[in-house]
Amino acid sequence: GAADVEYDMVVLGAGPGGYSAAFRAADLGLKTAIIERYATLGGVCLNVGCIPSKALLHVAAVIEEAEHASVAGVSFAKPSVDVDALRAHKEKVVGKLTGGLAGMAKGRKVDIIRGYGHFLDPNHIEVEETTGTSQDKTGAKKVVKFKQCIIAAGSAAVHLPFIPRDPRIVDSTGALELRFVPGKLLVIGGGIIGLEMATVYSTLGARVDVVEMMDGLMQGPDRDAVKVWEKQNASRFDKIMLKTKTVAVDAKEDGLYVTFEGVDATSGAPTEPVKYDMILQSAGRAPNGKKIGAEKAGVIVTDRGFIPVDAQMRTNVPNIFAIGDVVGQPMLAHKAVHEAHVAAEVAAGHKAAFDATVIPGVAYTHPEVAWVGYTEAQAKAEGKKVETAKFPWAASGRAIANGADYGFTKLIFDAETHRVIGGTIVGPSAGDMIGEVCLAIEMGADAVDIGKTIHPHPTLGETVGMAAEVAHGSCTDVP
Ligand code: FAD
Repeated sequence: GAADVEYDMVVLGAGPGGYSAAFRAADLGLKTAIIERYATLGGVCLNVGCIPSKALLHVAAVIEEAEHASVAGVSFAKPSVDVDALRAHKEKVVGKLTGGLAGMAKGRKVDIIRGYGHFLDPNHIEVEETTGTSQDKTGAKKVVKFKQCIIAAGSAAVHLPFIPRDPRIVDSTGALELRFVPGKLLVIGGGIIGLEMATVYSTLGARVDVVEMMDGLMQGPDRDAVKVWEKQNASRFDKIMLKTKTVAVDAKEDGLYVTFEGVDATSGAPTEPVKYDMILQSAGRAPNGKKIGAEKAGVIVTDRGFIPVDAQMRTNVPNIFAIGDVVGQPMLAHKAVHEAHVAAEVAAGHKAAFDATVIPGVAYTHPEVAWVGYTEAQAKAEGKKVETAKFPWAASGRAIANGADYGFTKLIFDAETHRVIGGTIVGPSAGDMIGEVCLAIEMGADAVDIGKTIHPHPTLGETVGMAAEVAHGSCTDVP
């Protein structure tokens, strides 16, 4: 049938990818709309991801700092946590940001169409409308016509098939709802999301076990950083079960009984079922590519639900682009935003391409672990000749003053060009500091460029300069 509304650009999904694409498209003169099933803008990241998790992690850090102040002769009473007030605080943080996005959309005259969208053909999406204040459908439908479209449908938590439905079993979204603090929590999956939530719940008083199929926690960074992290977090966990699979969950009234199985004889997996009060499933996220009727538009979707794109973020259908979690790993907000700008600019007739050299990763745990570009492990696996410079924070005045002398800053250089090609930082604020290493890599900086840059003293950030000095020596002649 005929379209109810018509746009130059329609963006499917209002996460960091979607809203960034829509705003850029509108700024470049395209008449733009966003289709979003949630009542608020911001997608996973703002509503149930990056932002609420960081709001809770900040509070956890405050509690831990207060406890650690005793080493400096300052002691506070045991904190009393009002979980309802904490949840309200988190929701206020999220509301400020999603409300801000709504204002920015209005300012740019970007229309928000609320509902579930699915393609009818390469120029039409049908929207089953939602109420605007919830995800409930109103029963009304609307056909939206577009010249160009950007798919930004994101991803969802993977639910293990053998795990029963039970209010005590949650994914990251459920964990962020902070309904209660369990006595004993099992976190399935030792990746970043699982460890961030483990940090929050353990600081609020839960005893936490982590189970991970691989032979280590956090798959991205070098093991020396993870080792530092593990030492600092040793008291947080009852058990970290590596090389162990969760094979069954029996939800009984008095608790959740979990059966484990080692992937080999060395895993030391418990032989008897272990009882928990809550389980967090954080064993990965899957793209939403198969849930949007993409095949009706002729858009190729892989078996796993990813949508292949080229450097212009175009799918196999020329007027349809895709960005963010739905196009592939790493599933990170800053990658989605960068891709969004490329897609919108190409759609508006500009010559843009996704050509980022590196994409940083950060675990916002305590301490933080941040890494970008080459790790030592990756260089070794590829047989690439590199130089490594590691600056231990035990030699940083600021780190010692802050009680963070366990951290380190490590830079990886190409052995031939001496350009920096990677970096790993572990310690408080590592995520804020890794940006300098990202810039250095993008700019093609070498060890002298970084080492001869005057960093402010005394800061944790100056350890980046100090690591570079380790690499090039303390004395270089001016060319
Ligand atoms: P999403 O944010 O997933 O947004 C997709 C949107 O599309 C959603 O709003 C969805 O409702 C909508 N949608 C999908 N299908 C339809 C449809 N058919 N009709 C209408 N609307 C639809 N990343 C970081 O970089 N830093 C972090 O600290 C971080 N922390 C995280 C913590 C948690 C607990 C989680 C779960 C994720 C975290 N991430 C983090 C990952 C980050 O949230 C994602 O990479 C990011 O949200 C991806 O953005 P996106 O635009 O691709 O998709």
